[in-house]
Parts: sequence; C-alpha cells; structure tokens
Amino acid sequence: MKLEGDNMANVKRTNRSAVLRNLHENGSTSRKRLSEAVKLTPATISKIVADLIEEGLLTTGPVIETGKSVGRREVLVELNAHARCALGILINIGEARLSAVWLDGSTAFYETVSLPRKAPADETVEMLTKRLMELAEEHHLEREKIIGVGVAIRGITDTKNRVIRHSFSALDQEEYPLAERVEMLTGLPVIMENNVRSLFLAQMFEARDKSSKSQYFLRCEYGIGASLSLDDKIWRGETGRCSEIGHVPVIRRGGKPCACGKSGCLETIASPSAIREDAIAIMSPTETPVLWNMLKHTKDEEVSLDAILEAARCGDEKIAQIVDRAVNLLTSTLKTVIYTINPAKIVLYGQLFENSFYLSRFLAEMEEGLDSEAGRVTIEKSPYNLMLEKKAAGILMVEHFYELGGIPDE
Ligand SMILES: [Zn+2]
Repeated sequence: MKLEGDNMANVKRTNRSAVLRNLHENGSTSRKRLSEAVKLTPATISKIVADLIEEGLLTTGPVIETGKSVGRREVLVELNAHARCALGILINIGEARLSAVWLDGSTAFYETVSLPRKAPADETVEMLTKRLMELAEEHHLEREKIIGVGVAIRGITDTKNRVIRHSFSALDQEEYPLAERVEMLTGLPVIMENNVRSLFLAQMFEARDKSSKSQYFLRCEYGIGASLSLDDKIWRGETGRCSEIGHVPVIRRGGKPCACGKSGCLETIASPSAIREDAIAIMSPTETPVLWNMLKHTKDEEVSLDAILEAARCGDEKIAQIVDRAVNLLTSTLKTVIYTINPAKIVLYGQLFENSFYLSRFLAEMEEGLDSEAGRVTIEKSPYNLMLEKKAAGILMVEHFYELGGIPDE
C-alpha cells in the first residue's frame, strides 16, 4: 500500500511518462485523443506536448479531419524516435552483445563479442565499454542524444544495489558492482537487470500487448530462465530470485552438479545443454543406433540438439527417454507456476522452441493435468523469438527513460 503522496516533480514525471508511453504503444494521435486516453485535461496535455516538442521528443505530424462538423481538424503528434538513443550491453556465458536502440526499440547498431567462460570482470567490462563507445562514435550517435546504458547479465542480479551477485560463470567475480563500473567508464547513467528479465521487458515493449496483465516468460537457451509480470510490472521477488525456475531441485540424491553450485536442479535435466550432454554420454552403435547412424563421423562438440531431437522423433528409444524426461520435468514445474500464479499467458523463448518436434511434445504435455480454468492460459512461442538479444539491454534503458517521463535522474 502506498502511504506517501507525490510531490509536483513526481506528478510531472508521471504525466509525461503516461504521454510518452501512450504514444509509444498506440502510435501518433491528436492532443484531444491523448487527453482522453491518459485522462488529463486538454490544457495539461497541451503544456506537456509543447514541452516535449521543444525538447525534440515529439514532432507534429499531418493534420486530420475529425468529427462530424465540417472543417474540424486536428494535428497529430508522434514520438520522435530518433531524438534519443540508448546503448546496451548484454553479458552471457562466453559472449556479450553490444547494441544501441532508438526510442521505438529499433536497432541503431549491434555487435557480438566473444568472451572466455568466467571472463575476468574488470578487464572485460573495460573492453566492452570501450568497444561500445567506439561503435557509438562510428555510427555517429551524438553524446547528447544518448540517454544511458542498459546492462543485462545472466545470473542473480541485485538491481537495487546495482550488483551482480552471481553470474554463474559469465564473469569471474561474484558480488561485482557492474552498473557502477559501467557508469564510471562511460560517464553515462546505467540501469542493470538480469538477462532473462531484460528479454521479457523487450518482449513486452515490442508487443505493446496490454491484454495480458500477467505473463510468464520462459527462456530455454543454454539453461532455463524465466520472468514473471504482474499488472504489467516485472516481479523480482524478495531477493531477486523470482522465477529462477531452472534451479528448482528435482532430483533429491545423486543429481548432476548445476552452475548455481547445487545439484539436481531442473536445469541439469531439462535444459537444452543437459539434453545434449545426456545424449552424447550414451551415444553408441548399440545404445542409440539411430543417432549413431546419423552422426557416426561427428565429433561430440559438433553434435547438435536438432540432431538429437530428430533421433528421438525417429524412435531412438534411449534418446527419446532423455527428451521425454526433460519435457516432463519442465512442464510439471510450469504447471506448478500456473496453479500458483494463474498467469494469462506463457511466452516461450529460445532456440529449443524452434524445433517443431520438441514444441509439439512440450505443448501436448502442457495440456495434460490442467483443469479447464487453469487450462485457459495461452501458451505461445514469442513472435520475436531469438530477435530480442540484439536490443534487450538498450530497451531496458529506454523503458527507464519512459518511466522517468523523459526527465533524467538527478
Ligand atoms: Zn541450479
């Protein structure tokens, strides 16, 4: 419950934020319609729009005829998306993505940088920020246009204290003050978030979908990550571990060690890398004849997940068992989520869901054991699958800018 009032500065931010978000989500509109949509008086809207035009954030578009009375005309206003841009750094295991996005989420530039596993934190962050600023210069992004840097990283993030607590082998240091470090090196404001939450935020930003107030975003790529939204806001949980679904313990004794330091986590059985590892471990002419015939001259490190799933589809019994177990444990855990949260939608993200055999197995399992009310949840593959990595970190900063009503933090 909110027990504090808002001072004038915050009211100004909130009103400007509502105008900016409305224009982002619904496109160009007239001042009159904007006033109706955000429920502010026409005079207040006129003042906000005039300020935003002066700051370059809005432009006036074409004049449209409206209403029944002949000659009634309204000028459209729209976001000037290229007025500002945000830079982004997304750090995963073995690689980082550097990017810049405009205020509408379109990409100004994008580059992938390879990193070693457990990359030395200070050195790596210095190298990445240096390259990021070089790219900004190469693409002629003027300093005064850059609103800041969004930093997304795998693992347990403490967004309040702006520290990465545990990056699960992406960086070599725990409790690392990542945001502060990037801020110091770039001289720009920085906002930090967990990588899966940043992808989910980018998904919501791009989809402009206000029909699903609660969504569960499930990402299966290297491991298994997830993020939850309640009333359109991302929920992080008491200690930033909300939706760390990959680390739900599913094997009580003798489970495989997990990147988080425990053993027997869901991720050690149901993640794409676990399925791959388990299949490769038993690959032989007798145990897995179909896979063996498909791949007998292939080195272990070149065995693809798609080939393993194809062997399962073609009836390679032991491989099919590995896949079945993975699908079963993942979908069972998700059903717990459905009965706990009752979300409107589950969004699937990651290379794994591009495999039609896996996706159909997954969806079929999800239909089992849900009553008709719980079963109403929409489950769909993200329409932006595999496309959000190149913009998610930047969108994090754009979102923050909208939240602040386009007025920088003091
Ligand atoms: Zn774990």
